[in-house]
Amino acid sequence: MSASALKIPLDQIGLEGFDLDTGLARSWLTDTLREARAPFEPHGDGKLVVRLDRMGDVVHVRGRLRVSLTAPCGRCLEPLVYDLDLPIQVAMFPHGHEPEAGPDGELDDDDLGAATYDDKEVDLTNIVRDEIFLEMPVNPVCGLNLEDCANQAAIAALKTPEVDIQPKGDPRWAALKNIKLS
Ligand SMILES: [Zn+2]
Repeated sequence: MSASALKIPLDQIGLEGFDLDTGLARSWLTDTLREARAPFEPHGDGKLVVRLDRMGDVVHVRGRLRVSLTAPCGRCLEPLVYDLDLPIQVAMFPHGHEPEAGPDGELDDDDLGAATYDDKEVDLTNIVRDEIFLEMPVNPVCGLNLEDCANQAAIAALKTPEVDIQPKGDPRWAALKNIKLS
């Protein structure tokens, strides 16, 4: 995949529409995530499959974005993998001719996002980027319950060896174990 794969000149979108099926290179995803200081790395390549339909100067983009992200659990550092499979539904307007968006940045229609393009070329880069950032977990933690995850964290900490200063197997302490406090 070259960076230009996500840029489609307007005149390539004919009456029959334009189908785009492209991989998203791991290196591109890595750079994109780093730029945003996201706590994730890509887990392999991604994929974008969309159809572009043109109505006058407005281009409707519909399809799916698939990316797999990985990050260590925020508590126990076990590696986590998130498979994102996201619907894309965006109307792209020529810059300066976009309608007014609602406070959430979406048009009045249900879930239809709005974006703009310049120079008679539709660039899907920001759409892909925004979609990933909107959907990635804010605080990646593993599916273990809190206690197991904390135990894992303790095990991870034990990998740093520390000198054990407690005497083991001292018979005087062993005797105390049999005393019941009630
Ligand atoms: Zn965990």
